[in-house]
Amino acid sequence: MKMALHWQILLGMLAGVIFGITYVYFNFDPQFVIDWIKPIGTIFINLLKLIAIPLIIASLIKGVSDLQDFSKFSLIGGRTILIYVATTLIAVSIGLVIVNLIDPGERIAPETLAMLSEEFASDATAKIQAAENQQKRGPLSFIVDMVPDNIFGAASNNRNMLQVIFFVILFAISLLLIDPKKAAPVKDFFDGLNDVVLKMVDMIMLMAPYAVFALLASLVVETKSPDLLVALLWYGLTVVLGLFTMILFYLAVIKFYVKKSPLWFLKNISPAQLLAFSTSSSAATLPVTMERVEEHLGVEKEVSSFVLPVGATINMDGTSLYQAVAAIFITQALSFQLDFSDQLTIILTATLASIGSAAVPGAGMVMLVIVLEALNVPQETLTVGLALIFAIDRPLDMCRTVINVTGDATVAMVVGKSVDKLREPNPKNWDDHLDNVR
Ligand code: ASP
Repeated sequence: MKMALHWQILLGMLAGVIFGITYVYFNFDPQFVIDWIKPIGTIFINLLKLIAIPLIIASLIKGVSDLQDFSKFSLIGGRTILIYVATTLIAVSIGLVIVNLIDPGERIAPETLAMLSEEFASDATAKIQAAENQQKRGPLSFIVDMVPDNIFGAASNNRNMLQVIFFVILFAISLLLIDPKKAAPVKDFFDGLNDVVLKMVDMIMLMAPYAVFALLASLVVETKSPDLLVALLWYGLTVVLGLFTMILFYLAVIKFYVKKSPLWFLKNISPAQLLAFSTSSSAATLPVTMERVEEHLGVEKEVSSFVLPVGATINMDGTSLYQAVAAIFITQALSFQLDFSDQLTIILTATLASIGSAAVPGAGMVMLVIVLEALNVPQETLTVGLALIFAIDRPLDMCRTVINVTGDATVAMVVGKSVDKLREPNPKNWDDHLDNVR
């Protein structure tokens, strides 16, 4: 019997970690892993990113034009954004409650503090610089940024996903409004294109177990000072506990609102979660999230083609929760007093900062600077604060990306249920696909 995909990926991840740890233990040359193993992971991530834009274009055009009428689209759109903001607020609140209960900032020894801030000061300064560049823009710039002035320019950079979505929605709505006879061949073309791109996802996924091996092995080998992770144990545990609570929240929603089995949901979305963990990027994971949600969880394309790409860019529940915990941890550890109104500021800024975070590794930490600045943390304290959490940021990034992706999938199910666009899943069967490919 063939092993299910999520087990294959999990096995690849485990083997990667064990390989990495053994390699480091015997003090072999890390350059070998970087030269010969890491590229397999990089190629895989590039392949996933490669098909993200074509997939969004094809599936969104098909999705919106299948809706037949514009009012349905605005209903789905409005609901999606509202639910996204709501889940983010819930995530930040969960983060705040847990961090205030555990108080990880009080549990860190002054020597550890000094050591960490020395070790990572320069990395922290780089993050602050990146945040400053981000901030030098006007209040409406995020809307302006959404409207591209050249579609090829927009489509040439995966970071401009919202610009592409904007163009495609405009295109698809116009398609709904023109003479159906003329619209039909255009629709058919994108319909076919959509199947082609999904087939490409299937082919790329054949590589997934090996690629996650490469990604995790090189990550372990490249990690500097792994012993420092222990120093941040309480903080790390607080974030992870918060993220875990968020998963429970999603599962409750799946059970009580969507009325599906949480285990079934987890089983079917797990390949996307495992990839999110291995790549730390919801954007790179997007093609797989879309494939899982449409074919395995049964959300109609009319919903998933909009909800998921938009979610990958703006809905980051894991990131917002982490930002809340990190902000409190840093201020506690550096004895910077916060009052109740500061906690409200965190709710607001972490929500906005997570919306503004790019769906790539490490983005959440850059935007954390903005949360800290909103709390009026002085510049020197800020550098020390970021240096403090740097050592453990990558593993936490991996975990929060899992939540970001799970959140998007959950909201796709919720919106699908609310507009009656859930059907019996029809895995155009994963295994059939693979058999065709082989
Ligand atoms: N890596 C996260 C993502 O892609 C963003 C972050 O929190 O850094 O979803």
